[in-house]
Amino acid sequence: MTIDIDHFLNVLAEEVRNYQVPVVDLIAVQTKDPFRILVATILSARTKDEVTSKASAKLFKKAPDLKSLAKLSETELAKLIYPVGFYKNKAGYLAKLPAALKEFFNGKIPDDVESLTRLPGVGRKTANLVVAVAFNKPAICVDTHVHRIMNIWGYVKTKTPFETEMALRQKLPGKFWIGINSILVAFGQATCKPVRPCCDRCIIANQCPQIGVTPRKVPKTKDKAKSANGKSQRNAVKKLISWNVNGLRAIEKKGFTDIVYELDADTISLQEIKAMPEQLPESVKNLEGYEAYWYPAERKGYAGVCTYTRIKPLNVIYGMEIPEHDQEGRVLTWSLRIFSWSTPISPMPSTAC
Ligand code: SF4
Repeated sequence: MTIDIDHFLNVLAEEVRNYQVPVVDLIAVQTKDPFRILVATILSARTKDEVTSKASAKLFKKAPDLKSLAKLSETELAKLIYPVGFYKNKAGYLAKLPAALKEFFNGKIPDDVESLTRLPGVGRKTANLVVAVAFNKPAICVDTHVHRIMNIWGYVKTKTPFETEMALRQKLPGKFWIGINSILVAFGQATCKPVRPCCDRCIIANQCPQIGVTPRKVPKTKDKAKSANGKSQRNAVKKLISWNVNGLRAIEKKGFTDIVYELDADTISLQEIKAMPEQLPESVKNLEGYEAYWYPAERKGYAGVCTYTRIKPLNVIYGMEIPEHDQEGRVLTWSLRIFSWSTPISPMPSTAC
């Protein structure tokens, strides 16, 4: 099966617009400063983006440029960048960076891969990323996501990221070189994850060869009874969850849908969703296997409640007929049949905060 790489990458570039922006890209957009991009890239190796982001902000407050970085000791640097992965090693690299740049490049950040790899703590991956992101020059940054996904697609057959970079240099159209890392990192973190990728909600699942992949399992509704709209429904609640998510968009980036599927509840009531349904990705707005009832606040990014349910409610009441509270999206009441009782509990107070 041969994939259409243009189609895959164009579709995914569009898809990841709704995803979290990788931290190095964010710093690039915010600062356009090669020094900060280089330092953030060094910090980001084997470290989660949230951790890199916080550590970079702390470090740049003390050392916004090379001159001020040179004044910090290795111990001070280690304290500032803790808890990024291998922070002691990285503090050592950062301590040596000003002198190395002065000695080899007259205090300037070089803009080619070979020169950058002469700097402490800078391998090909970091160098390629800096060249692409900081200088907007053709370079292919191959990290584990790019290496892994390109092999899953069968676009390359390689054993190491270096082999993948070399193979991509031969066949990947130049227009994708600079952006491929940002696209596949975002996609690899959110959907095509290293362990049990979310093929069930992947936009290119129909065309993906899925080489060597074990997709995650999405629990299906066991009961065959159908609701009025034809969706499969259970007819009694056995597991009901109430969860103050403190921002559905934020929790979505931390694997909200995976957690919900793991919980395997019949009904999930969320508080503090802080989003309108139209601001959410399709996978959250129309959670597979559930019907969703939304009652967001009128004010964007504030309060709001929602209920996902596998069982069609007997009725749903939005608000409590007190306008000053209802505009905040605080109460959503629904009636459900519980267990196998023949008489429904009605009405059943529900999502409220
Ligand atoms: S279908 Fe699965 S393996 Fe293929 S790209 Fe999508 S998430 Fe990855």
